[in-house]
Amino acid sequence: MIHGEIHQNVRQYINGRWETSATTGVSANPSDTSEVVAEYARADRRQVDGAIRAATEAFPHWSHSTPQRRADVLDRIGAELLARKDELGLLLAREVGKTLPEAVAEAARAGQIFKFFAGEAFRSGAGGGGSENVASVRAGVQVDVTREPVGVVGLITPWNTPFAVPASKIAAALAHGNSVVFKPAELVPACGWALTDIISRAALPAGVFNLVMGSGREAGQALVDSALVDALSFTGSAANGERILQAAAMRRAKVQLEMGGKNALVVLADADLDRAVDCAVQGAYFSNGQRCTASSRLIVEAGVHDAFVAKLRQRLKALKIGHALERGVDIGPVADAERLAQNLAWVDIAREEGAEHVWGGEALQRATTGHYMSPALFLAKPAHRIAREEIFGPLACVLRADDYDEALALCNDTPFGLCAGLCTNSLKHAMHFRRHAVVGMTMVNLPTAGVDFHVPFGGRKGSGYGPREQGRHAAEFYTTVKTGYMLA
Ligand code: NAD
Repeated sequence: MIHGEIHQNVRQYINGRWETSATTGVSANPSDTSEVVAEYARADRRQVDGAIRAATEAFPHWSHSTPQRRADVLDRIGAELLARKDELGLLLAREVGKTLPEAVAEAARAGQIFKFFAGEAFRSGAGGGGSENVASVRAGVQVDVTREPVGVVGLITPWNTPFAVPASKIAAALAHGNSVVFKPAELVPACGWALTDIISRAALPAGVFNLVMGSGREAGQALVDSALVDALSFTGSAANGERILQAAAMRRAKVQLEMGGKNALVVLADADLDRAVDCAVQGAYFSNGQRCTASSRLIVEAGVHDAFVAKLRQRLKALKIGHALERGVDIGPVADAERLAQNLAWVDIAREEGAEHVWGGEALQRATTGHYMSPALFLAKPAHRIAREEIFGPLACVLRADDYDEALALCNDTPFGLCAGLCTNSLKHAMHFRRHAVVGMTMVNLPTAGVDFHVPFGGRKGSGYGPREQGRHAAEFYTTVKTGYMLA
């Protein structure tokens, strides 16, 4: 159904109906810009307000639905995502430029997330795992603490993981009894639509789930500003996250922000060097570094610095960059022309700052016209901008450290705090690093990118705000606590 088809009329989904909008936009295939992937309706404020009203009206009934009802809906969505992962992966690869195996894996992950939250529905709310009976300090009084759905939630998502990030938010919101208005990024309307198409057939009451596509400035901001939206979960850039936080704080909406990173992979002299290079290639360059968990700072202990750089350069030379659907391609194109231009501008900045060029950073021509570039590697100093700012592209830098202590200090010397990796054979250093890296997630002898879907995900400092996403911790954001007292 999706393969090779141009999606004319990809519409909004509001109050159980598909709606057109006054204006439309187009998404193109970054591997072959002559291919239109979707033509989509762009919502204005009025339409977003309509979706919010529908979610508000649907909330009371849905919030009192039985766990079985919610589990059945989520299970059905998860099952369809898993059954159609190849077809959906193909769509994702066409719209974002991830290689087909990566894209199929993401579609499957979205299915697993819905399946996980089908189970969570039974552990949510009054009588579920979130509630407790507590002895009162007053004789004859009974106290219980329960969790209730938070209300209408606005979900604003980025383009780089257009199935998995929305799935984490939507599944958690619905499992805990909330109603949803979902705004995907403008680059990925077809993925947002495909997910919604599946959700629309899962027997949800009208208005419980709504899709609004459109710009962040208009459609996204309408969600942020509406007094009817009780909670906002945003994943995207730090700059937009901070703006949203300020606006939401003014009206006391609950906020969860997942933002950028400048994640480090520390390589110690005692590490298995081949494994370390493998972690660096996967973590820094796969998906073109367009992952919030990408390791864009490779902090290497002096004793293995030169050997590591030489091995990494060899690996980068051998990577195959090409059309995302071509068999054997390691890395597809970057997402669009704007991002390609930004990445190439970062290469210029690196050179101007005096960072030493090791490999890549050039625009590439392929058989089809797409946004191709070679993965870039520089040797940098900690003060260089390429070592401090999020690039969100296939550019990583190596920083030299004299010893473990300096490496850890460099790792933590950043305004971000999403994740950090360490390659070592030292148990002592591994244990110390897991405790002292100031981040939300640590990875030892593993790439920084690539996480499980059933445990908390999120960061500290400039990378995150509010409760974590995923797993049972998602209840902290998607529910609110109520304490009940009763004279027995
Ligand atoms: P972005 O901030 O440009 O956009 C994210 C979403 O916010 C989009 O849907 C956009 O339309 C919307 N938006 C923009 N301005 C808005 C506004 N004023 N009000 C409401 N909504 C608004 O980010 P992007 O370019 O789509 O994604 C890349 C960024 O996302 C990177 O910084 C990356 O690190 C981050 N990211 C973080 C995680 C994480 O979990 N920490 C995961 C994936 C991506």
